[in-house]
Amino acid sequence: MSIEMQPLEADKRQVCPEEFSFGATFSDHMFTQEYDQDKGWHNALISPYHALTLDPSAAVFHYSQEIFEGLKAYRTQEGKINLFRPEENCKRFNRSAKRIVMPQVDVNVHLEAIEKLVALDHNWVPDQDGASLYIRPTMIATTPKLGLGASASYCHFIITGPAGTYFAGGLQPISVYVADEYRRAVKGGVGEAKTGGNYAASLYASEEVAKKGYSQVLWLDAIEGRYIEEVGAMNICFVYQGKRIVTPALSGSILPGITRDSILQLAPALGYEVSEERLDVEQILADIECGKITEVFGCGTAAVISPVGTFCFKEKDYIINNNETGEVSKHLYDELTGIQYGTKEDRFGWIKTVEL
Ligand SMILES: *Cc1c(COP(=O)(O)O)cnc(C)c1O
Repeated sequence: MSIEMQPLEADKRQVCPEEFSFGATFSDHMFTQEYDQDKGWHNALISPYHALTLDPSAAVFHYSQEIFEGLKAYRTQEGKINLFRPEENCKRFNRSAKRIVMPQVDVNVHLEAIEKLVALDHNWVPDQDGASLYIRPTMIATTPKLGLGASASYCHFIITGPAGTYFAGGLQPISVYVADEYRRAVKGGVGEAKTGGNYAASLYASEEVAKKGYSQVLWLDAIEGRYIEEVGAMNICFVYQGKRIVTPALSGSILPGITRDSILQLAPALGYEVSEERLDVEQILADIECGKITEVFGCGTAAVISPVGTFCFKEKDYIINNNETGEVSKHLYDELTGIQYGTKEDRFGWIKTVEL
């Protein structure tokens, strides 16, 4: 199947504005394709960014049959545009689709759509330090029917928009509240799928925590309320004595982050030990208090690495590394962003350069 191109005329296209706000500014074009049971995927199209028209009874509005992805395009010093492990996002998209009973997308069409879209809107890839073009693939259930059951038709779309440096003055540690009352996902549920419902389920706790002055929620397992899962839209890593990096093992309710996976592959090559374990929150907090844990950081596409300076659990604050960004966090941040922006060797073959 080929993607039909209906771009704006060249003189109607915009360039990335100097000032934009992440998630609220979108580039000129988008990709869409439709699915129904008779035709399968069809109408693959790149056209100007536009509103979708959906029936109010469309399944996505009622039963949250929806999945999404998040990845970025990075402009290198030579003016090339790099994607970071885009096929991993596509594979995860299809795994999420399977769990939410949605059709699989053709990996080649999905990747081609991303590349064509980014190439067409290359003027939207910002060139400021640490900035990028954020890419948001999504799939929604469109059948206008209130009866329960999987939808018979779907829309797969991809939009993009500029993202600034996540941290204006460099890497800044965040404060994280350990949820003791609310739970995000349970084993057997949909925590491993990148689906909007997980976010709907976590908004209330996020708002409560923000009122207390913390910026993110750390989720514990939903059965015992004891094992560490992940933070907001990031996975979490603990650094022991500056040399061993430990992250919760994928439990079925944790989102398998591509940044997490990249760290597990990259860190050993940089001389760190890594391990995936079941991490008891009480033990972790004790290890922070006695100084065995020297750094904590979240990891995800948005911020890459986000140092954690404070945990609050049951009204008590635990300060990590004097609330400063540690060396391991900085090292991994520099290495990963170096690969993404093409200043460090791509030793794992993670970069796909977009043909312009
Ligand atoms: C997307 C996401 C992550 C991070 O995944 P990356 O692939 O590293 O961006 C972590 N947790 C949740 C809940 C997410 O939605």
